[in-house]
Amino acid sequence: MGEQPILLWYRNDLRSRDHEPLYQAAQTGAPVIPVYCFDTRWLGKTAFGFPKLGVFRAKFLIESIANLRQTLQQLGSNLIVRQGLPEAIIPQLAKELQVGAVYYHQEVTSEERTVEEAVVRTLEEYGITRQEFWGATLYHRDDLPFAIADLPEIFTQYRKKVEYQAAIRSTFPTPESLPPLNLETTELGEIPSLNDWQIEYPRSDPRAVLFFTGGERGGQQRIKDYFWKGDYLQEYKRTRNGMLGANYSSKFSPWIAFGCLSPRYIYEQVQDYEAKRVKNDSTYWLIFELLWRDYFRFICLKHGNKIFYPSGLQGLSFPWKQDWSQFTRWQQGMTGFPLVDANMRELAATGFMSNRGRQNVASFLTKNLGMDWRMGAEWFESCLIDYDPCSNWGNWNYTAGVGNDKRGFRYFNIAKQSKDYDPKGDYVKHWLPELSKVPPTKVHQPWKLLSVEQNRFGVELGVDYPLPMVDLSESVQMNRHIYEVSQL
Ligand SMILES: Cc1cc2nc3c(=O)[nH]c(=O)nc-3n(C[C@H](O)[C@H](O)[C@H](O)COP(=O)(O)OP(=O)(O)OC[C@H]3O[C@@H](n4cnc5c(N)ncnc54)[C@H](O)[C@@H]3O)c2cc1C
Repeated sequence: MGEQPILLWYRNDLRSRDHEPLYQAAQTGAPVIPVYCFDTRWLGKTAFGFPKLGVFRAKFLIESIANLRQTLQQLGSNLIVRQGLPEAIIPQLAKELQVGAVYYHQEVTSEERTVEEAVVRTLEEYGITRQEFWGATLYHRDDLPFAIADLPEIFTQYRKKVEYQAAIRSTFPTPESLPPLNLETTELGEIPSLNDWQIEYPRSDPRAVLFFTGGERGGQQRIKDYFWKGDYLQEYKRTRNGMLGANYSSKFSPWIAFGCLSPRYIYEQVQDYEAKRVKNDSTYWLIFELLWRDYFRFICLKHGNKIFYPSGLQGLSFPWKQDWSQFTRWQQGMTGFPLVDANMRELAATGFMSNRGRQNVASFLTKNLGMDWRMGAEWFESCLIDYDPCSNWGNWNYTAGVGNDKRGFRYFNIAKQSKDYDPKGDYVKHWLPELSKVPPTKVHQPWKLLSVEQNRFGVELGVDYPLPMVDLSESVQMNRHIYEVSQL
């Protein structure tokens, strides 16, 4: 003891388990000062004018901070909470508290990196050292069997290499206890409320897949429910393309995005499940999906800001449209295509959408409407409770055809997808009550209803439910043509 304290700068890593900076700081025996600084720029707007921090994510974040503070209190410490610009607040606190070093997890995308670099510059001026850690992926960056510059551009090549040539590290244990915080004149700081941020408390919609509660405890509970209590993991591969209900997929994403759960911890839980229950395609497939997540993060590390450019990772030029009246219909779930509309309404009402839904609505926006995919990505950024820059912008690049999929103009056939993934129309009826009486065989193509049928099923097209805004096949042909011409 007697050593200079270590300031632990919490970011998107709001947990105590498998947290290397926390573990390493505790190991030194020096006092540890955990700090979370809410970046008030998140209260601003995206480039296209949407709120940067949607209501569901804001609520989840506040719950996660509160739970982290409780956990740290139980360990004998506490969490200092601040709001403002981290690049000003973190170094200033470090100076005031006379810390010897700042420990934190590194991020990869530009907004986060810019803050990090500014923090580091000021710390250097103050003569305070720092230690950065890599902790958001399943595979550690340093264990990849290639340099980041040589990261394969094709996911399967990447996956095979890491699966055969790299190992996943073990998790770091939570320290058993932490030294108490002796702050003297420094305030602990209040956890902000939605009210402070002038964000209205989101209505909890009974149709939601799950009521997500932010924080490590909520994440642990979800693992218990999904893996151990419900035993759903054993059929994940078969159910994962579902859209309705809590258990077609893990729903871990918001906890992973805020770092309340680490992918390595989930991996260990899967191994445990495989040892105690069953090991099959499904248990592997959950890890396979986490590999996709890793992949997008490493891609962002390799390509920097390209992921945010309209031409994407491939640098493809395409005359994307920015037609606000069409975009608004997509946003509000008023396109006239039930699968798209149900998903867009679910997103707005709950902050969540299944992977199947995300792929379809993104394909519709880009391949049927030819709309600037960044508008869609930003709308997702604004609404999604599990928003993660690498996964969101990486997947949008992919779906828009400017990312890691070199197979040319690919699109989702909305009519076929509807029939394959919602054969009885249960999902669309869940979100579009105006179509509730339409029989399953007709519910995905309401524009084909005769007026006598509209009467019988209680829906008037163009009044109760919109007429389709485009012809599915003509719009795809047209955008394919534009795509091909623009690549000549
Ligand atoms: C256009 C588009 C935008 C997306 N934006 C995001 C985003 O902002 N944040 C986000 O976490 N995911 C995003 N995804 C990926 C995926 O849709 C979600 O991770 C998944 O639906 C979350 O539900 P789950 O936790 O039940 O997933 P599960 O199917 O249970 O998968 C387990 C975990 O694997 C990871 N994962 C699964 N699929 C993907 C994928 N395609 N890409 C990256 N990681 C994946 C997630 O961390 C997920 O929690 C996006 C997908 C698309 C097509």
